Amino acid sequence: MSNCLFCRIVAGEIPAKIAYEDEDVLAFHDINPQAPLHVLIIPRKHIASINDIQPEDAALVGKLFLAAQKIAADAGYAENGYRVTMNCGADAGQTVFHIHLHLLAGRELGWPPG
Ligand code: C5P
Repeated sequence: MSNCLFCRIVAGEIPAKIAYEDEDVLAFHDINPQAPLHVLIIPRKHIASINDIQPEDAALVGKLFLAAQKIAADAGYAENGYRVTMNCGADAGQTVFHIHLHLLAGRELGWPPG
């Protein structure tokens, strides 16, 4: 989708600091980090929100979590912990409608989130 910001990052039209990539998944550092490590993990395929995930996307969505696990471990946060979260819709704070896992680590993270 040419008007999707994250599709444009996938296409290389907008620069991003890449943290991980494979044939299905791209991960890049958030431009407005909320923790010492704040990476966004997205499928290369455009899926607007959790509401749009189809049964055939199940393995792809699982790969987002495996990428989060690897990025966190490679950065040294496997033991102390990290958070992955995905906002769905306006009330949850979703601003970019191409699904993305936020991976946050490197500080104590409060609960519940705001
Ligand atoms: O969950 P939500 O949709 O609000 O998250 C979007 C995230 O995308 C924000 O954390 C924002 O900082 C990030 N972003 C980015 N690069 C852009 C535009 C937004 O990392 N060019």
